[in-house]
Amino acid sequence: MPAKSVNDIVALCKRRGFIFTGSEIYGGLGGAYDYGPYGVELMRNIRNAWWNAMIYARNDIEGLDAALISNRLMWKYSGHEGSFSDPLVECKKCGARMRQDKMKDQTKCDNCGSTDLTEPRAYQLMMGLSIGAMADGAINAYLRPETATTTYVNFKNVLDSKPHKLPFGIAQIGKAFRNEISPRGFVFRMREFEQAEMQYFVNPSDDEKYFEYWKNERLAWWINVLGIPAEKLRFLPHEKLAHYAKAAVDIEYAFPDGFDEVEGVHNRQDFDLGSHTKAQNEFKLSAKVLENKDSTTKLSYSDAQTGENFVPYVIETAMGVNRAMLAIMIEAYDEEDLGDGKSRTVLKLKPWLSPVKAAVIPLVRNVPEIVDLSNKLVDDLRKLAIGRIELENSGNIGKNYRRHDEIGTPVCITVDHQTLEDGTVTLRYRDTMDQVRVKTDEVPQKLLEIVKQ
Ligand code: ATP
Repeated sequence: MPAKSVNDIVALCKRRGFIFTGSEIYGGLGGAYDYGPYGVELMRNIRNAWWNAMIYARNDIEGLDAALISNRLMWKYSGHEGSFSDPLVECKKCGARMRQDKMKDQTKCDNCGSTDLTEPRAYQLMMGLSIGAMADGAINAYLRPETATTTYVNFKNVLDSKPHKLPFGIAQIGKAFRNEISPRGFVFRMREFEQAEMQYFVNPSDDEKYFEYWKNERLAWWINVLGIPAEKLRFLPHEKLAHYAKAAVDIEYAFPDGFDEVEGVHNRQDFDLGSHTKAQNEFKLSAKVLENKDSTTKLSYSDAQTGENFVPYVIETAMGVNRAMLAIMIEAYDEEDLGDGKSRTVLKLKPWLSPVKAAVIPLVRNVPEIVDLSNKLVDDLRKLAIGRIELENSGNIGKNYRRHDEIGTPVCITVDHQTLEDGTVTLRYRDTMDQVRVKTDEVPQKLLEIVKQ
C-alpha cells in the first residue's frame, strides 16, 4: 500500500537521510530543503532516466546547462518582470497571506475563516539580485524562475553549433527559484526547486501533431519508466490559457490529498522566440550595437530546401524533478505487518532507482578473513559501476536489514563463516525477504540482473 499521507514520507526522509529542512539549525527557511545522502542518489537516478529518454535515446534533442543568474533585461523582455506573479490576498483579521487561486474558498481566510480580505494584488515571484560592486543594491539580475527562457535565448547558439532540421529540441535540467507565497506539501511547492524541461521547435503547421505526441510520450514515461500506475496519473487540460499558449495540459499524479500537477506540456507558439527577437533588436539598436534595422538578428529558422525563414513554434515539456521524487516515494512506500506484533517499513523502489544498489554485511566483524572477503566483494561490485554499494560495518544484522528496507536497497549480501567453507554468501531480497545462498563469484552477475529492473 502506498503512503497514506505525505507525513509518512517526511518522517522517513528525515530519519533515513533523504531530505532535511534547509537552514534547519537556524530555524529553517520556508520552501528550501537540503537533500541528504540518499536523496541525492534518488534525484540523480530520476535525472539520468529523463536525460536518457530525452537525449541519449534520440537524434533530435540537444542538452544545455544555462546559468542560474541572468541579466535583468532578459527577464524584462521575456515578460516575466511585468507579469510573472501570483494573486496575493491578505486577511485583515489574522494577517495571513494567501495565493488566491489556491485558496480553499476564495471568500474566506484559509487560516481563521474571516471574510475580511484585501483585494488581490500581483505578487512578483522572481528573486532579484544585485550583482557586482557597481550595482549598489539595485536589482540588475534575477535567479531564473524556469529553465525555459534560458533555453530560448540559446536557440541560435545551439542551432549554429549543431545544425538540425525541424523538429528539434533543447533539454535542460536545473534549479529554478520562485518566491512562492505559500510553500507547502513538503517538496511539492518550494522556493528553490529543480526542473527538467525540454523545448521542441517545430514548423508552425505541425504544432498540434507534436503537442499530442509529447503529451503521450511524457505520460508513457511516467508509467513505463518511473513505474507510476496508469490509474494514478491523468491529464488535466488548462481551461484558462496563458496569453502565449495555444494549448496546455498538466500531467497530474494522485497524491494522498488528491490529484495535483507534476508536469506540464504547453504549446507556446512563437511567443518566446518572437518576443526575444523583437526585444533584443530594439535593445541592440538603442545601445548602438547594431547600425540599422537591416542588421538585426532573428531567433528564426531557415529551411534550406524551401528557402523559407520563420520563427518556429515551441512545444514545451516541463517536469518538476522534486515532485517526481515525491510521487515515486509515495508509490514505493509500504508498511508491512509481519505478524507477532512486528512490522516493517519498506521502500519498494524499482532497483535502478534505489539510492543504494546493494549492501554487503560481514556477519562477524572480528574474523579478519570474513572482513577481507567482504571488502573484496564490495570492490568487485563497485567495478560494475552501477551506483552506490555500501559496506555495513556496524549495527546488528536485523537493524541493517531494517535500514536498507527503508532506503529501498534491493538486496543485502551477508558474508559469514560458511563463506569461508564453501564460498557462498546469503542474498536477502528486500521485497520478499527471501534468503538464498549463492556462490560469491555469481553475485556481480545477479546484481546486474537485479538493477536492470
Ligand atoms: P503551479 O501552477 O503549481 O505554480 P506552474 O504551472 O507554474 O506550477 P510550471 O511553470 O509549468 O509550473 O513548472 C513546471 C513544473 O515545475 C511543474 O509541473 C512542477 O512539477 C514544477 N514546479 C513548479 N513550481 C514548483 C515549486 N514551487 N516547487 C516545486 N516544483 C515546482
